[in-house]
Amino acid sequence: MGPGQSTRREQSETETGCPVCSGPSRQALLKDGHAIFGCDVCGFLFVHPYPSQGELDAFYNADYRGVDRNFYPKAASRRRRAFVRSLPLAPHVWGKSVLELGCGGGFMTAAFATWAKRAVGIDLSQAAIDYAAAHFPKAAFRCETLAACAARGETFDFVFSSELFEHLPGVDKVMAGLMQVTRPGGLVYVSTPDASHPARPADLSQWSDICPPEHLQWFGRDSLTRLFRNHGFEPYKLMRNPKPAHSALFRRSQVT
Ligand SMILES: [Zn+2]
Repeated sequence: MGPGQSTRREQSETETGCPVCSGPSRQALLKDGHAIFGCDVCGFLFVHPYPSQGELDAFYNADYRGVDRNFYPKAASRRRRAFVRSLPLAPHVWGKSVLELGCGGGFMTAAFATWAKRAVGIDLSQAAIDYAAAHFPKAAFRCETLAACAARGETFDFVFSSELFEHLPGVDKVMAGLMQVTRPGGLVYVSTPDASHPARPADLSQWSDICPPEHLQWFGRDSLTRLFRNHGFEPYKLMRNPKPAHSALFRRSQVT
């Protein structure tokens, strides 16, 4: 290997393109052996390189051991909190078809099923889906990926994703899936940590939401809005939150 090749390799390890806007991004932090890069243009923060699917499968299989089809931790309080949390969204859900991504034990999907014409929850954990199906008969649950759900050709008026985006190793797959499953004019709700929030610790290493490999990417308002705009959605409602977390609705363009 010549000296030129060696220099290029070092550059590729310290600088890369932003997954959201392709802007120059460089290492901002090293946390628990994971390099976290920040984009100079949109402020997006992401683990680089993202872990492989094999590494993530191993991590999540270990993480779901507390769940089986008969037991979900703190089920009664989850049920209450889900109902309260669904109330402000009820006007958008009433009489509509709803999809929840990463529904876990199905508590939010079940709350939406109170008002929705149809509520479907999908999750990658079979144990969580078995629990949801056994406890919430008004909703439908499937253990499948968003891509598999999109491949059915079914579309929804309202797609809910809470605490999902920060766990994903990238943005392209989820956005491709959202474009397929969201009807023109339909809404997507996203809650995920907010890296641009004034209450976020100034020192990133002190922010509890920076916990790779559980969390792999962190959006500010700019990067989240850019991501959705790049994929045919416009901000519909960006709700204020006292904590450093987004609570945002994006509307899919009427034109496809
Ligand atoms: Zn960027």
